[in-house]
Amino acid sequence: MAKLLEGRPVAEKIKQEIKIQVRNLKQAPVLASIMVGDNPCAASYVKSQEKTALELGIVYKLFQLDKNITERCLIDSILELNADKAVNGIIVQMPLPQHIDSKKIDEIIQPLKDVEGLHPENTGKLFLSRTRFASCTASAVMELLNSTGVDLYGKEAVVVGHSQIVGKPLALLLLDKFATVTVCHIGTSKAGKLEEHVKKAEVLIVAVGKAGLIKGGWIKEGSIVIDVGINKVGGKILGDVEFESAQKRAAYITPVPGGVGPLTVTMLMRNLVEAAKLQR
Ligand code: NAD
Repeated sequence: MAKLLEGRPVAEKIKQEIKIQVRNLKQAPVLASIMVGDNPCAASYVKSQEKTALELGIVYKLFQLDKNITERCLIDSILELNADKAVNGIIVQMPLPQHIDSKKIDEIIQPLKDVEGLHPENTGKLFLSRTRFASCTASAVMELLNSTGVDLYGKEAVVVGHSQIVGKPLALLLLDKFATVTVCHIGTSKAGKLEEHVKKAEVLIVAVGKAGLIKGGWIKEGSIVIDVGINKVGGKILGDVEFESAQKRAAYITPVPGGVGPLTVTMLMRNLVEAAKLQR
């Protein structure tokens, strides 16, 4: 039976380190958070960010903007925060309304304030193994892997999902640890090859958003399984991996909820403190 890889205890340890770093800064670091409209998912992320910031001695400034705001006005608001020396980090809550191009928004944020690591300068630094700010979710996965004490060197790592915020940065972070990385996506599934790749994974990370996509029987005995997926099914939150049957085969597995989720906000705050230090 697999050991549960829970995010909370790992997050608690990192939070203690962040608290010390915050105390060592002359001024409390400031995170500016922009929320456009009133999407319930974004509202719930904001709540959890506010709570964590308070706990860590970080100033959280929320800017709630009307859902009909033009792209130009949103860009102007970000430019103001870029220029404001009192602001150390900027996060724009997703999803944005359809009339706003989120890629353009990622590129407007000052790279040294881009605590989500989405600006091309920061993704470029990640590509060059000179990471400044990596995506919070990808960093959370790496912290969970690190907490197992298993050396990733030469391990067969399979990442299912190749999004900008999870799969792609994760593949690069795993390469930096000298894992042998395979990235699967919709094309892999359509070609009927997902099962064969998953079956060879000593380290499996799934970030798709389809409940039960990964069958328990596909899990390699003794592997590490990190399930990033969040799916609401009949009032329950489920991951992308069939949990019960996978747990019987893996050595470590994340619960959903309670695995990656509780760590991502902590990673955001860690990036913010790093940003404050770099801007000094
Ligand atoms: P996305 O929609 O941007 O990307 C989905 C990826 O899955 C793509 O690479 C796509 O090709 C792939 N895919 C789709 N169908 C597939 C299939 N049948 N077989 C194989 N691959 C398939 O998603 P995202 O933003 O990366 O999020 C993925 C999941 O992770 C979602 O459930 C999301 O809610 C969750 N998530 C969780 C956290 C967290 O903190 N726990 C953070 C971010 C995302």
